[in-house]
Amino acid sequence: MRKPLISANWKMNKTIMETEEFINSFIPMVKDVKDVDILIAPPFTSLSAAAGLLKQTNITLGAQNIFYEEKGAFTGEVSPAMLLSAGCSSVIIGHSERRQYFGETDEIVNKKIKTARKNGLEVVLCIGESLKEREENKTFEVLERQLAGSLKDMTLEGITIAYEPIWAIGTGKTATKEQANEAHANIRAWLKKNREGADTLRILYGGSVTPETTAALMSQPEVDGALVGGASLKPDSFAQIVTNAGKQ
Ligand code: PEP
Repeated sequence: MRKPLISANWKMNKTIMETEEFINSFIPMVKDVKDVDILIAPPFTSLSAAAGLLKQTNITLGAQNIFYEEKGAFTGEVSPAMLLSAGCSSVIIGHSERRQYFGETDEIVNKKIKTARKNGLEVVLCIGESLKEREENKTFEVLERQLAGSLKDMTLEGITIAYEPIWAIGTGKTATKEQANEAHANIRAWLKKNREGADTLRILYGGSVTPETTAALMSQPEVDGALVGGASLKPDSFAQIVTNAGKQ
């Protein structure tokens, strides 16, 4: 039995003050939730303030990116030690926006995952196909290529996968529960064939998840949670997603 994980990805949203306002409202809304793990990934600048407020709560903190070197002349980059010292226990790696706008390849993603894991950070690895790839029936080929490249020479320890079809991110177009389940089942099948521990690994769905779509997605046997962008920016809507995920 895999415990659901609901993760917020705030992307480039919220100042420190807005982060504090969100967290102060959100904590009481989910304080009694025990059957769902909750993760929030604010921008780097808000991590430290968020960590202070999240201490002794049932909510963990993650970053949205990391660099693959431990330190040095890499202007603007953020190392694993910096994330750990800011209070993070997790990091999102390989989000499609990083791949699309910042040229992250599977090879770079793989290097980032290795450095994160070496330093004890849990990883949420994002993979997903474009609309063109789906229409050309290449979805599973793309997912397998991303898995093989991103997880090259890695075990599954400390890894969560987020299946995020690019056509569903920020578009208001959620994959149907059947599409999500089918993709997750394929991901797990590939992992089972190629790695140990695929049965216990969590596979999250991401792409325009809302409080209204959560229950149907979570009813699917292969959907173990969600990575939520837009609907995680308001405390009440994110809290609703968390509670709806727990009812399954
Ligand atoms: C995301 O940022 O990972 C995401 C899925 O965004 P949204 O929920 O806004 O589609």
